[in-house]
Amino acid sequence: MAEMSGGCQCGKVRYTAQVSDNDAYYCHCRMCQRATGGVAAAFKQVSADVVVWHSEPDWYESSPIARRPFCSRCGTPLGFIFNDGEGLDLTVGSFDDPSAFKPVAHAGSESMHEAWLDTRELKRYYSATTESVAKRWKAAGLEVPE
Ligand SMILES: [Zn+2]
Ligand SMILES: [Zn+2]
Repeated sequence: MAEMSGGCQCGKVRYTAQVSDNDAYYCHCRMCQRATGGVAAAFKQVSADVVVWHSEPDWYESSPIARRPFCSRCGTPLGFIFNDGEGLDLTVGSFDDPSAFKPVAHAGSESMHEAWLDTRELKRYYSATTESVAKRWKAAGLEVPE
């Protein structure tokens, strides 16, 4: 069991969760696509009672059976829970160290966008060496963040 922390992009919402393993998953359903703006949602499921919100997120009903926490200031999607559920899904990207998790399953596979799954062969660019990005950080007097 490890305590892991996370939160939204702007820092308004912060949480810690007791995490018992590294297993995470993708949900490809259309509601997760819309809720995150991504081609899929990456989630780590934990028991809702092991999550401590140090500053409360806002919640909205994403369907008649579920609701989702998010930050009303910056918009970061933070998770998912069934209205009668005990398992809270936290978005992998909202953890301070998302690298701890590995995907072990696909949910909502009926809406999966296959073309986005195996992208290992694509050419890779890096922010620090992408001129259009790096010059703007430099102009702002800042280092390119990771
Ligand atoms: Zn925020
Ligand atoms: Zn979903």
